[in-house]
Amino acid sequence: MRILSVASEVYPLIKTGGLADVAGALPPAMARRGVSMRTLVPGYPQVMARLGSEVRVLHDYPALLGVPARLLGAEVEGLSLIVLDSPALYDRSGGPYGDRSGTDHPDNWRRFGALGRAAADVAMGFVPEFLPDLVHAHDWQAGLAPAYLRYYDLPQPSVMTIHNIAFQGHFPAGIFSALELPAHAFGLYGVEYHGGVGYLKAGLASASAITTVSPTYAEEIKTPEFGMGLEGLISDRADALHGIVNGIDTDVWDPETDPLLAAHFSADALVGRAANRAAVERRFGLAADGSPLFVLVSRLTWQKGIDLLAWITSADIVRAGHRLAVLGSGDSGLEATFLSLAGEFPGRVGVVIGYDEPLSHTMQGGGDAILIPSRFEPCGLTQLYGLRYGCVPIVGRTGGLADTVIDSNIAALNAGAATGFQFSPIDAAPLAGAIRRATNLMRDRTAWTAIQRQGMKSDVSWDRSAALYADLYASLLPQGTKA
Ligand code: ADP
Repeated sequence: MRILSVASEVYPLIKTGGLADVAGALPPAMARRGVSMRTLVPGYPQVMARLGSEVRVLHDYPALLGVPARLLGAEVEGLSLIVLDSPALYDRSGGPYGDRSGTDHPDNWRRFGALGRAAADVAMGFVPEFLPDLVHAHDWQAGLAPAYLRYYDLPQPSVMTIHNIAFQGHFPAGIFSALELPAHAFGLYGVEYHGGVGYLKAGLASASAITTVSPTYAEEIKTPEFGMGLEGLISDRADALHGIVNGIDTDVWDPETDPLLAAHFSADALVGRAANRAAVERRFGLAADGSPLFVLVSRLTWQKGIDLLAWITSADIVRAGHRLAVLGSGDSGLEATFLSLAGEFPGRVGVVIGYDEPLSHTMQGGGDAILIPSRFEPCGLTQLYGLRYGCVPIVGRTGGLADTVIDSNIAALNAGAATGFQFSPIDAAPLAGAIRRATNLMRDRTAWTAIQRQGMKSDVSWDRSAALYADLYASLLPQGTKA
């Protein structure tokens, strides 16, 4: 079985969030099941710089949606890539979607329209060495891939995965003619969305199957509260919708070998966590007083419920005698709020604004508990890292957080099944309540260690989910397609 995965981010080359982790982890997990997966990714500078001398030109376009482009083949970090190289589209400073100030590029419709179109071209045989049996598109940036397959009458089935339905890729109708789709594609059941062109909508309407990254989120997005306007279409396609929870790369995230940790540890020997805790204390300027250490590693946005944490920090963390280390970036208002909390409570609240992968590992290795008060969370990865590293997750009961963390209620504690804390409704007072429940339990070291160990034993690997994807792919392919 040959799968073309289409993604606008792939770890470790380019990452702004969980999508990159999934796009990077799925190919090796599928390879272990005998499924060959290649990843089509835009040729951002961060990608081009990694291609090395073995790169090969697979196809040369005179024009792809109006601009020169090439498809390049390269093996990087164990990933088999097809890179859409087009300096006109991708050779820019800043992140994958916008300039340095975070403003979206005005031609994102073309940058990611070309990505979808290139996926269809690969399915059409433009890359003779790799003719995919199926195309798997991730998020709105790849949303036109299923639409091109459909409207160009290509035989391959497609899967559209929603990593976050809040990001939809909605553009004015005027771009439609430049996409080189047939006129009838601009309709209610095609790519049209509220009078414009909707990339995610196009993918959802066109794909053979839809997946999202947890069973609970799959239910939630059928409702107006979570569906962000697409709930009607999702409900119409409920029979084609599957919730498959993300795994994590347990080789990268392994507390026994992780080179980014200050010291290694395991479920049986947690003592190495102390050195990581000390490293976090130093980096965040926190008092080394042995009090509960809460960590947050997150985009600082409304989705993540960061304002709820800011709201309770002085009363329920600082005055309660606990400590908080915050790593994140995002809304400037939230960044400023946490910087001022750190200024107000030196030694109790420490803040690093920015994106720092190594530090995120140390924090998972040294924190007592990781706070994830998300208002909605399709899957979430930080709670999975927390489980694996003995950094007990305290989570809002929503989406993938509800599916992956077992609340420390009496029944779960008695059964030895508890792995963290859930709170609901997702608001400041319930968050504070969960923090209180956690710190009460921390006083009983044996009980707390049992929760840590149980979490560290949870299967957060890709194995089970990769099997579910492989089964889904097989169900969409003609019988007899070899694994
Ligand atoms: P989302 O994709 O919505 O941002 P996820 O929990 O699915 O949320 O994935 C976030 C990923 O980004 C995790 O791997 C997390 O560790 C990482 N991350 C988020 N913010 C930072 C940061 N400031 N520094 C380092 N890693 C971060």
